[in-house]
Amino acid sequence: MNYYITRDYIRFGAARSGEKLNGVKFIVSHDTGNPGSTAYGNRNYFDRTQPSASAHTFIDDKYILEIIPINEKAWHVRYDKPTDNRMYGDDANDAAIGIELCFGGKINFEEAYKRYVWYHAYLCNKFNLDPKKHIVAHSYLDPERRTDPQNAMRPRGVSWGEFLNDVERSLQVDFKGNKSTKNSNNAPKEPVVKGISTTLPIGEGAEGQFVKEIQEDLIRAGFPLPRYGADGIYGPETERAVMQFQKRFGLLVDGLVGTNTLAKLQEVLKQNHSTIDFPLPEGIWKNGDEGEEVSMIQRALKHLNFNPKYIDGKYGPLTEDAVRRFQSMYAALKNDGIYGPNTRKYMLMEIDDN
Ligand SMILES: [Zn+2]
Repeated sequence: MNYYITRDYIRFGAARSGEKLNGVKFIVSHDTGNPGSTAYGNRNYFDRTQPSASAHTFIDDKYILEIIPINEKAWHVRYDKPTDNRMYGDDANDAAIGIELCFGGKINFEEAYKRYVWYHAYLCNKFNLDPKKHIVAHSYLDPERRTDPQNAMRPRGVSWGEFLNDVERSLQVDFKGNKSTKNSNNAPKEPVVKGISTTLPIGEGAEGQFVKEIQEDLIRAGFPLPRYGADGIYGPETERAVMQFQKRFGLLVDGLVGTNTLAKLQEVLKQNHSTIDFPLPEGIWKNGDEGEEVSMIQRALKHLNFNPKYIDGKYGPLTEDAVRRFQSMYAALKNDGIYGPNTRKYMLMEIDDN
């Protein structure tokens, strides 16, 4: 089995410094912790908001998507954690590739998992790593704060040990050519790795998942595609909708989707979403507070799968815990369980992506 690897790198910023890795000594396996968020959803989020956290590769049921070149550093494990240094003599951010499994929502777990396994095997082959020694779970490096990627695998019946076995098997079969079956006369097969990077802008004639996601966004933003819908093909109907969108929002009307059009589209959707469906109050809210504002926070937390259990307008321990779990996903947020401007900002961005 072979898969495509898509290389579509985010811009430089807090999430991507461009600093080079000290070689690849090991791999850290993650899940996104955000059920339903896709590889491209994550890419666009990291590209746009540049949080001071990142990972190299996001994998869902359609894409193996490298968003940071694998010879550069990404920020996926806290520097103050000692286990990576003890095991590999280096910090994960300086000497490891971070891989994120996208799961939940509409993502087909089996398809995403197969790609996740294959990509680990691909890297083991490329950098001469031993799956049993050189792949480590994020939860193992940061047990106080993290449960990934077991959190995504275990409910779907895959243990960590089985995962490593699957990587080992893929390494042997897909990369070393050790077929256990009869047609073992084949020479070791080169994996099909092709950078089908989506270079912006895209326009008429483009095809694929990225086009489909743009079409879905256009429809949600109120620019329908009545004839063909979101079919993944950038034809005249899509071009016309893009031009209408550009005209409405004062952009250069060229019918091409580049960074400006993409950013405006996200902005419009974010406004639609956050202000209509999940408004979030300004100010600081914490344990002991009560009111409609607290209900708003609770509703948004529930929507983001950080269920506070009760939407009762009372900021109690369960709400505090839900806020803290949300905060723990971001290096930039203090895990204090208090809702304030920074937490609000990140919640709005997540609502936009869901
Ligand atoms: Zn992680």
